[in-house]
Amino acid sequence: MKGSCVCGACRFEVALAPGTKFHACHCETCRRWTGSVNFSVEVAPNAIRFVEGAPIAARQTSDWAERTWCAECGSNLFYRLTVGPKAGWMYLALGLLDEPGGIPFGGEIYIDRKPDTYDLAGEHPRMTKAETEARFAASA
Ligand SMILES: [Zn+2]
Ligand SMILES: [Zn+2]
Repeated sequence: MKGSCVCGACRFEVALAPGTKFHACHCETCRRWTGSVNFSVEVAPNAIRFVEGAPIAARQTSDWAERTWCAECGSNLFYRLTVGPKAGWMYLALGLLDEPGGIPFGGEIYIDRKPDTYDLAGEHPRMTKAETEARFAASA
């Protein structure tokens, strides 16, 4: 699949694993980073290739991850784990894809941090902050 930031300086090709679903994160960092809710797809290290010279800026936002954006236009790009067995794995912003449709929705995390004025419809897993962090701890 192909995608890019708003200005096109950060264009990429990505190979999503079969069965990849996108997830919604309502944690405070994602909320502030995106301005709303973070929809993202998991991407293996080396499964994404950016064009030569893509101006990717990065900032460490926790002890275990960094967040990146296009230094030209400010589009959020991906969240990347920097430690642990999944170091290097990325959570790419769904909206960057040229064709974001067709990827199934896998569920919501940090559901108890979601503002109470909206809900994502349908039947899907919804994990609280405690459930989400327990899951991460189990796989770390
Ligand atoms: Zn850009
Ligand atoms: Zn989050």
